[in-house]
Amino acid sequence: MKVLVLNSGSSSIKYQLFRSEDWESIANGMVARIGEPEGEVKHNWLTPDGSQDATQETRAIPTHAQGIDNIVACLRDSGALADVSELAAIGHRVVHGGPHFNKPVIVDDAVVEAIRDVVPLAPLHNPGHLAGIEVARQLFPKVPSVAVFDTAFHQTMAPTAYRYAIPEHLYTEHRIRRYGFHGTSHFYVAKRAATVLGKPLSQCNMITLHLGNGASAAAIRAGACVDTSMGLTPLEGLVMGTRSGDIDPAVLIFLWKNLGLDADQVDRLLNRESGLLGICGVNDMREIDRLAAEGNEPAELAIGVTVHRLKKYIGAYYAELGRVDALVFTGGIGENSAKIRARACGGLQRLGILIDDAANEATDARGERCVSADAGEVKVLVIPTNEELEIAQQAMTAVGLQ
Ligand code: ADP
Repeated sequence: MKVLVLNSGSSSIKYQLFRSEDWESIANGMVARIGEPEGEVKHNWLTPDGSQDATQETRAIPTHAQGIDNIVACLRDSGALADVSELAAIGHRVVHGGPHFNKPVIVDDAVVEAIRDVVPLAPLHNPGHLAGIEVARQLFPKVPSVAVFDTAFHQTMAPTAYRYAIPEHLYTEHRIRRYGFHGTSHFYVAKRAATVLGKPLSQCNMITLHLGNGASAAAIRAGACVDTSMGLTPLEGLVMGTRSGDIDPAVLIFLWKNLGLDADQVDRLLNRESGLLGICGVNDMREIDRLAAEGNEPAELAIGVTVHRLKKYIGAYYAELGRVDALVFTGGIGENSAKIRARACGGLQRLGILIDDAANEATDARGERCVSADAGEVKVLVIPTNEELEIAQQAMTAVGLQ
């Protein structure tokens, strides 16, 4: 059987097709600029001889329904999916499940309503997901759609971790609390890390750091999330590519009162113009690294602020967990930047965190690996994330086929 994973946004749909027998990814791609005069379709697939092939076209894609039609046509024409009946499930990435979901669910009308109910909490994401889910259900009524939520893994947090210290009615009436995101990634790398440690996940305490364009940390006790750095939205926490992460809320008041910015302008400033981009004008860590090596001071400062924030979270989560078996790095920066890993772990030997420079800097190293010195009690692991695979496997489990 095969499982199709869809990540449907407001104007694009990313997809990946897996073969469930060996979980090989046999095709992936995206349709972009849905609703614009000129859309784009990119498709990559595994050929029978094991090589990769790709096509790219521009054409108008007026609606999400036509977007999914295009995806199915690409999958069929490339031989990746002869017929939709080969699909055991369609796994949909859903950013926000609010308080409703702590695990993946087969989508029915009630689930659609529950996802719609939390649109105010994720206005940029959930409407696009709903569009993809509704079209998939209409086009393929015999294939179960499974919603997999970025927030689900964090639902084990206690109120002490998820409540903000603000008036209670904002929580009870407006559901303003911390939810956390990137849960599918934190859960995936935690499971893989447990395998590397040779222990059941339920016996592992870990701090997982997902460092990509978006970035978040999670504290995991006995396999369950007890804290995470993102909050009501993915804006809270670590320094990100274009998001500020933690900030004194009075900065917003200052922006309103003294600079006359309105809510949309503040939203844009903190989500799209801040973070690494705000500090040094660039949001790509590779480029920032290059600039810093040339002595560019804003680039060096951007790295410094990022590392300072990371250390704060590592320390806070260590204190929360008491005992830590592994510190796990993932995401584009976590997997590839030896420098960020080394600086985030620098000076933490009293906590049992000690990097092995040779292992950390090995340029040919790929895949899951340990980069800590034997003397360090805490294993520092690099685990490439694979959210699509996790969604596919959770979808398969939800339909009872795994
Ligand atoms: P997204 O959150 O969009 O999925 P990724 O997980 O792909 O993002 O991470 C993107 C980030 O990873 C970018 O800042 C990019 O510069 C960084 N990155 C990728 N490769 C390297 C590298 N070799 N060294 C440093 N940073 C890297």
